[in-house]
Amino acid sequence: MRARFRAMTATPLLVLENVDKHFGDLHVLHDINLSVQRGEVVVVIGPSGSGKSTLCRAINRLETIDSGTIRIDGEPLPAEGRGLARLRSDIGMVFQAFNLFSHRTVLDNVTLGPTKVLRRPKAEARARGMELLERVRIAEQANKYPAQLSGGQQQRVAIARALAMNPKVIMFDEPTSALDPEMVQEVLDVMTDLAQEGMTMVVVTHEMGFARRAANRVVFMADGQIVEENSPEVFFTTPESDRARDFLSKIL
Ligand code: ADP
Ligand code: MG
Repeated sequence: MRARFRAMTATPLLVLENVDKHFGDLHVLHDINLSVQRGEVVVVIGPSGSGKSTLCRAINRLETIDSGTIRIDGEPLPAEGRGLARLRSDIGMVFQAFNLFSHRTVLDNVTLGPTKVLRRPKAEARARGMELLERVRIAEQANKYPAQLSGGQQQRVAIARALAMNPKVIMFDEPTSALDPEMVQEVLDVMTDLAQEGMTMVVVTHEMGFARRAANRVVFMADGQIVEENSPEVFFTTPESDRARDFLSKIL
């Protein structure tokens, strides 16, 4: 199993400070403060509508924030421009809906970012793309189109596509929620491998088994706020907040 405790002296890879966000009158992110260390796996859980997806999208600037700062590797995320494109490629995203390019092959889905955005030579991108498809155990599907794959296979392609950009951190927003039950485990297995290899991950999920096994820390959100942060051991056995206790009693 990966080391659960890491030196806390290094600059955290991802830092959110006093992040606030409204949609009209709705206060969707309320003074969010969160640090993620290199190699850490943070699982974010909480009721529907608590702001988990907005948090993921804000970290990648797919959503603007009203105030506060978000830093990757010590650098504040710029609001726009070339600096944003570069920092954004440091943050991989895997969504509930796989969002693959439907008219491109599996391998093309994985190599488009490296060739178009990172300007890598095509042959190099394809070689590395095949390695990544092997890593997510789907190399034999390289020349198929997304619609020819199962949901679990498509989500593994989406993970390979995120890895192809060499991100410093990958955000997963309910990556298994849209899958048929029998496909959930194959995606969680790939995510567990990544966690064990030391990838920094922020994972929004309702898969409590994954959280217990792979998370270094659980962040519980409700009503746009981080209500509790704890180790999985403490969170799942003796949660400190009433909100978390109430939530866990409904899902466990
Ligand atoms: P979660 O992922 O935890 O279910 P979301 O971040 O998707 O929560 O949503 C938090 C709240 O913000 C919800 O009440 C949702 O309806 C609202 N919301 C999300 N996106 C938008 C938007 N683009 N415009 C207005 N309200 C939104
Ligand atoms: Mg969501």
